[in-house]
Amino acid sequence: MPELPKGFEHAQVDPKWYAFWESIGAFRANPDSRKPRFSMVLPPPNVTGSLHVGHALNHTLPDIVARWKRMQGYDVLWLPGTDHAGIATQNVVEKQLAEEGKSRHDVGREAFVARVWEWVRKSHGTITSQMRKLGESVDWSRERFTLDEQLSHAVRRVFVTLYREGLIYRGRYIVNWCPRCRTALSDLEVVHKEITGKLWYVQYPGVAGGPSVTVATTRPETMLGDTAIAVNPDDDRYRTLVGRQVRLPIIGRDLPVIADAFVDPAFGTGAVKVTPAHDPNDFQMGERHQLPQVAVIGEDGRMTQEAGPYAGQDRFKARAGIVSQLEHEGLLQRIEEHRHAVGHCQRCNTVVEPLVSTQWFVKIEPLAKPAIRAVEEGRIRFVPENWTKTYYEWMHNIHDWCISRQLWWGHRIPAWYCDKCGETIVAEEEPKACPCGGTLRQDNDVLDTWFSSQLWPFSTMGWPEKTRDLEHYYPTDLMLTGFDIIFFWVARMIMAGLKFAGDVPFREVYITGLVRDERGQKMSKSRGNVVDPLEVMDEIGADALRFTLAAMASPGMDIPLSEGRMTGYRQFINKIWNASRFVLMNTGDVSERPALPDVSALGIVDRWILDRVSRTAAEVDAALRDFRVDVAADRLYHFFWHEYADWYIELIKPHLRPEAPERPHTVAVLLEVHDRILRLLHPIIPFVTEELWQHLPRKAGDPQTVTLAAFPTSIPAWEESSAVADVESIQEVVTAIRTVRAERGVPPSRRIAAIVDEHDERQRRMLEANARYISLLAGLDRVEFRADVEMDPDTVKRVLAHAQIYVPLAGIVDRQGEIEKLRKELEAARKEIASLETKLANANFVERAPAPLVRQTRDRVEQLKGRRATLEATLTELGA
Ligand SMILES: [Zn+2]
Ligand SMILES: [Zn+2]
Repeated sequence: MPELPKGFEHAQVDPKWYAFWESIGAFRANPDSRKPRFSMVLPPPNVTGSLHVGHALNHTLPDIVARWKRMQGYDVLWLPGTDHAGIATQNVVEKQLAEEGKSRHDVGREAFVARVWEWVRKSHGTITSQMRKLGESVDWSRERFTLDEQLSHAVRRVFVTLYREGLIYRGRYIVNWCPRCRTALSDLEVVHKEITGKLWYVQYPGVAGGPSVTVATTRPETMLGDTAIAVNPDDDRYRTLVGRQVRLPIIGRDLPVIADAFVDPAFGTGAVKVTPAHDPNDFQMGERHQLPQVAVIGEDGRMTQEAGPYAGQDRFKARAGIVSQLEHEGLLQRIEEHRHAVGHCQRCNTVVEPLVSTQWFVKIEPLAKPAIRAVEEGRIRFVPENWTKTYYEWMHNIHDWCISRQLWWGHRIPAWYCDKCGETIVAEEEPKACPCGGTLRQDNDVLDTWFSSQLWPFSTMGWPEKTRDLEHYYPTDLMLTGFDIIFFWVARMIMAGLKFAGDVPFREVYITGLVRDERGQKMSKSRGNVVDPLEVMDEIGADALRFTLAAMASPGMDIPLSEGRMTGYRQFINKIWNASRFVLMNTGDVSERPALPDVSALGIVDRWILDRVSRTAAEVDAALRDFRVDVAADRLYHFFWHEYADWYIELIKPHLRPEAPERPHTVAVLLEVHDRILRLLHPIIPFVTEELWQHLPRKAGDPQTVTLAAFPTSIPAWEESSAVADVESIQEVVTAIRTVRAERGVPPSRRIAAIVDEHDERQRRMLEANARYISLLAGLDRVEFRADVEMDPDTVKRVLAHAQIYVPLAGIVDRQGEIEKLRKELEAARKEIASLETKLANANFVERAPAPLVRQTRDRVEQLKGRRATLEATLTELGA
């Protein structure tokens, strides 16, 4: 084995090991193995996308679980793939065309789709290589794409089945329409933004001498399509008006006044205009009262012929024109400011226009009921549990799902219309001709992207064929995803899985938080605070990014990703690297792993570390079983840094000398513990652990990669309290002396003496027997164990639970100089406390400054007060 380089060069190391894992099929699932199975499907990223920080989190966490399960001896299937992402992908290619001054209509459907495919093939390599860079242990031999032939077959099978059962229908209905994308949108694709708009009060004159009525509207341009005025039947103000007619300004159409309980008497004047073609509530009111639909805005966002003088104008320009005409005619009674939500296209941010059009829908209620039951019966568990409530609320209020999109990129709707007899034929395969002999024309529209992604957990495994994979790996065990797609995706997968694959698609759903910037703000391009995981990986490596995300991923919490944390964990990885170099340099002559001696033959330090590594393994395992990767990362970090590296490695240095009698035993323990630590860390930081593990001498039967090595478990025979208690006592004494050294400014290299007055007899003998460890770690040249210690002003006394420690510093530290130094520091601390407290007493600062700054200021005051107390005590002790 070549010597380990000085530093961890992730840019060389990471790709080498990923290629190795792939070449030996380390991530390949095998349904014929005898191992227990564990399966997951990866939420497919957009095929033309790039890895963002949300992916980095939502791919790292399941990767940790997958690697852990694999090391525990499971046959793990983690199935990857990409999504064709209909509207998003089409928009990208449309933008490319626009740069050439063309639209998709200029190039035609076939050529446009061919161009999208070309773009998809090119960019597919981008996202998948980024996933490799992050270290995702997915089974690439099973990679799928939502437009694969087999997955498209699944889509058609589902469509036809639902259609035959009456659960898919075509109808004229009001839908959310994006005039820019020129397509219908599902409710979920509409982003509602609160804006301050206006409420215009418009008077509609009475007909034939009848009374006029005033209505309030936020959208005067739609009034040209009014077909009624409505009031609440219980509203006494309008009782006599119901059944009469008023005249629509500008157009001159006579409108009936109707009574409908939907009208809120408290809104505006209590009388509202009814525009069935441009408002979803009015649409339903129109159905109840058989009102005509007059569409005055077209699919392009321009006014139609029905809009009279405004025909052909853009809808917002028409609004301005109509308002000024009404004002001119004296029909505009007043204008108020009005806060309300306006729907915007999720993809292009255009204001959505409700329009009546012919679309395909899924009747959702019969599918939702079993999906609600599955969660109620505990067949699916949400983590954190509070998402269950959100799920129920949404599922109980679910609307029919508009699944047709007026796009070209996607699964084309498998419906054909006969030109001659008007028949609609829905079929999996293209029918040759209509039974009447007429020519058939396929529906122009494609399906909503989520229609295919809802089938992902089973379509990827070969459904509708009864494949070995489907039988073996479905239902999957775990789905991990962001909360933003619970309804787009998670709920629909549950409905589709129950309906078509005969079972829930997964047993557990883990919902992750959002990755935010270090001040807790949402990342956005406009704020300029977006963290690019690819840049981070270039800079500090995938492992450091992974460890940061893991350590910060507390369930139910957003993650404030900070540079400081990432740098800190990068240092942690360096620490692991350096400790490994130490281990390898000091065990270098060992080519094969020595057998571990019986625990009873070992000294307390070795027994202590075996206990600690065993308990740490148990804690990490328990944490991972609860998906607490944050707890697992935290335990490993502290164990490695604050027990193994800071203490164990320091304590055994003398044992590792060639002549030391303890050497053979300690080498065996050191290699065993180091091996276990690398295995425990591997699921979180796969690359660096593989590189280091490959340098360790092997045990017989070890696999060729740590990725396939057994995950450490606790070893009850290693767990004992006496060695642990003894080492803790030694640590306590050492820490006390080190603190004295720091407080009194003893130079680090200066050897000093200490006296331990231990009252407990057994304890005293133990400390005495291990005096060399105390001397080594506390920088002593002499340690005595006795009572009756003579005090003088230069001797420092510390009281522990059942011992007193004396540190004589006469001739070592200049007491007067030290007093001067500490007084200065105390003075500075007092000043800073006073200044910060004045700041915190200022309500202006506390209310207006960013919350993290206020918190930091408070923390600093607490810290300074602690320091002040220590300084005061030390000065008193020094007789100052
Ligand atoms: Zn749009
Ligand atoms: Zn026909």
